[in-house]
Amino acid sequence: MPEIRMQDYKALARQWRPQSFQYFVGQQHAITALQQSLKRKSVHHAHLLTGTRGVGKTSLARVLAKGLSCIKGVTDVPCEQCEHCKAIEQGNYVDLIEIDAASKTKVEDTKELLNQVHYPPVQGRYKIYLIDEVHSLSANSFNALLKTLEEPPEHIKFILATTDPQKLPITIQSRCIQLHLQQLTEADIAKQLEKILTDRSTTFSHQAMMTLAEAANGSMRDAISLLEQAIALCKESIDDELIDNMLGRAPKADIKSLVHSIHNNAKEKISEHLGKIEKNQLNYHTVIDQMITYLYQVTQQQVLSTGNEANKTDTDDKRFGEEQVQLYIQQLIKAKGELDLYPDQPMGFNLTVLRMMAFKLEQTSLAELI
Ligand SMILES: [Zn+2]
Repeated sequence: MPEIRMQDYKALARQWRPQSFQYFVGQQHAITALQQSLKRKSVHHAHLLTGTRGVGKTSLARVLAKGLSCIKGVTDVPCEQCEHCKAIEQGNYVDLIEIDAASKTKVEDTKELLNQVHYPPVQGRYKIYLIDEVHSLSANSFNALLKTLEEPPEHIKFILATTDPQKLPITIQSRCIQLHLQQLTEADIAKQLEKILTDRSTTFSHQAMMTLAEAANGSMRDAISLLEQAIALCKESIDDELIDNMLGRAPKADIKSLVHSIHNNAKEKISEHLGKIEKNQLNYHTVIDQMITYLYQVTQQQVLSTGNEANKTDTDDKRFGEEQVQLYIQQLIKAKGELDLYPDQPMGFNLTVLRMMAFKLEQTSLAELI
């Protein structure tokens, strides 16, 4: 049932949300900067955390709030045990005011919020405003915020978070300490997913975790969401086949075989692959992306002598010309944009494959031209 899965996902995401600095994956430079300022007990009144979705901006903001509010004193190692730390963890600490700016863009709302900044904190030593998606505020709201940032009361700390810092007025940016959170590497994400599964005693393949990490595009939140789906589908272990099916991907060996068959005009083999892709109801956009990724690895290996050993072209295949690989990639990129213009996607994809077979660079005539 989808509802049950969503609850599971929430539980898993909540369970693995970093509760203190040492539990974060990556983001070392931002964490070091925050820990240093907490250690020195001189935390700037406004931080701006930037980075794409799911890289840990709000989690880091909450941990900073703990460091500022822990009953044991301002600390780079919040105790995680005291009343304040626990309340922040549970999302009900009275002096941490979390605002989703995307839903509070009217100037009255911001004014209402900023009218309260002069009141002292109720429980803790600071009143902390966490404004998520701060770029969504209106121009008037920015002006109201700016006034407070220019002359902040002693007991106020602002933590602003945004996926889109370019949309913030420079006057706001210049009054904040800006910390950029990097997209997580696939290796970092895979490692964390493996940790979660090991903790649950679920068996898995490393390649399956790398594929999930790749699909998550640097977002840990998306990766955990995908992992939750995989756990729901999994009977015994989370292997390559399960993940490929779940994501509508073709197995890597099939992609390699399809590309080589196109290059070598191996018509029977191509028909076999096209039939299999349609029968398994794979995601055609994903399959095209996989083909582009494979060709990228081929060209990397040819031109720069780098890339994955596993993708080396077979010796009995015609050598891929460098220009030919570029042409294949161009044809596939074009197909991606046009796939939905065909009567149906299988037709669009099959025609793309036929086009790749029909229009090839003639190496000899090209040489003559040069
Ligand atoms: Zn504490």
